[in-house]
Amino acid sequence: MDFDVIVIGGGVAGVSAALRASELGKSVVLVERDQIGGECINRACIPSKTLIDAVKTVNRVSSSPWIVSSSALDYARLNENKARIISAIKEKMERNLSSKNVRVIKGNAKIKGQGEVEVDGRVITADYTVFSTGSVPLSLPDFPLNGKNVLDPWTAMNLKEIKNRIIIVGGGVAGVELATLFRALNKEVTILELMPQLLPGFDKDLAITTKKRLEEKGIRVYLNAKSKIVNSESTVKFSVNLPNASEEVEGDLAVVTIGRKASTENLNLKEIGVEADQRGYIKVDERGKTTNPKVFAAGDVAGVPLSATKAWRQGIVVGDNLGGKDSKMSRYIPSSIFADMEIGTVGKTADDLRKAGVEVKEVTVEMRDIPRAWTLNEIEGFLKLVVAGDKIEGAHMIGEGATEVINTIALAMELGISINQLYSVTFSHPTVSEVIGEAVQRLTRGEIY
Ligand SMILES: Cc1cc2nc3c(=O)[nH]c(=O)nc-3n(C[C@H](O)[C@H](O)[C@H](O)COP(=O)(O)OP(=O)(O)OC[C@H]3O[C@@H](n4cnc5c(N)ncnc54)[C@H](O)[C@@H]3O)c2cc1C
Repeated sequence: MDFDVIVIGGGVAGVSAALRASELGKSVVLVERDQIGGECINRACIPSKTLIDAVKTVNRVSSSPWIVSSSALDYARLNENKARIISAIKEKMERNLSSKNVRVIKGNAKIKGQGEVEVDGRVITADYTVFSTGSVPLSLPDFPLNGKNVLDPWTAMNLKEIKNRIIIVGGGVAGVELATLFRALNKEVTILELMPQLLPGFDKDLAITTKKRLEEKGIRVYLNAKSKIVNSESTVKFSVNLPNASEEVEGDLAVVTIGRKASTENLNLKEIGVEADQRGYIKVDERGKTTNPKVFAAGDVAGVPLSATKAWRQGIVVGDNLGGKDSKMSRYIPSSIFADMEIGTVGKTADDLRKAGVEVKEVTVEMRDIPRAWTLNEIEGFLKLVVAGDKIEGAHMIGEGATEVINTIALAMELGISINQLYSVTFSHPTVSEVIGEAVQRLTRGEIY
């Protein structure tokens, strides 16, 4: 065999799997057909957060009348900064791979057989294979992407000039983040969401608060909207069926944030005995092992949640196991949304738990009760803890700092720390994290703030 391990796909899942396996003494080759860092670093998390963080800075200045100079975005320079950040992170990843002796081969990998991979005509062999080929946007029949005025999020974010009236299909994580971005660039923004709430699957109150904030910013949100594109020759026209009416909605650009599929076209899954689920995502166990014991999978290609948070962790777990260290996926994977008001969630919603027959109680602390929220000039939002017995089963936070605070709660949940144990923890003052202390206080003794 040429190598112990061949990793196909150099996104965050593939990079973390390769680095870990190599650190643990395996000879590793990583094949990437495009760019190291994959979707997250080059096209998704990092670029979108660079843009949104800039937007939030501008929003913050404009909502602070005591700051006398005004601010506005220079989109061209912002995009230059985005390119710089992407390069810096990607180059660091490439240096890490090189210093940890991971061999990187540029090219399109194709599975020839068990442990045999062809890369642009050359065959490489390895004992173990890791599939970390990610997922790709799906062109849906009702919203066919055309590369012109019906686009996927990445293409839309990279337009040099953004048209005025933007219709976003899907009010999930990407839809909410993009709406925030485009609205801050003074565009007319409409979200079309099929389900009865924005952010389907998220806590209801959190979704309501998000909708309220988006509408305050001037974004139109349609819920229960069964829509389809009826014409995209010059402008984009949608027919929108609502529960009691139907409308035509017209824009200059449609951004389709729904629909992705596992990227498995070259992997010959059936031939090597690797099973996929009904939606085409590779089935893995908690160690990232597929139905073929010599093949592992990590990241988007291994199914939901489709997040870099999960992909990075799953890559590490796979790398650990390849290197002989028994390692399993975390039970709780937090998720963050970087909208105008940040969102952080981990675990289940109260509704989901009740549906499953679990008896839960909830405690909600409004951000306006926390002194730091006032000094940050963002007093909207809340933290809701969902507790079963003495353990936190879900945390749902919206407000400044939510994407950071949620990690502390995930830590408590993963380690099984009880509410009573958390009561003994001191949170520094004045910080947003005090909201956790206050929630625990209210659950055990009563309100202090
Ligand atoms: C707009 C947007 C914003 C997002 N923001 C966030 C966020 O803030 N936080 C978060 O956690 N997640 C976010 N995500 C999701 C996140 O980007 C993905 O979940 C993550 O990138 C998946 O990583 P991966 O390594 O599994 O796959 P990918 O990043 O897709 O990497 C797969 C790699 O495999 C390569 N490849 C595929 N097939 C082959 C082959 N046959 N041969 C060689 N190479 C191949 C591809 O070129 C690619 O580089 C966002 C997604 C979008 C669309």
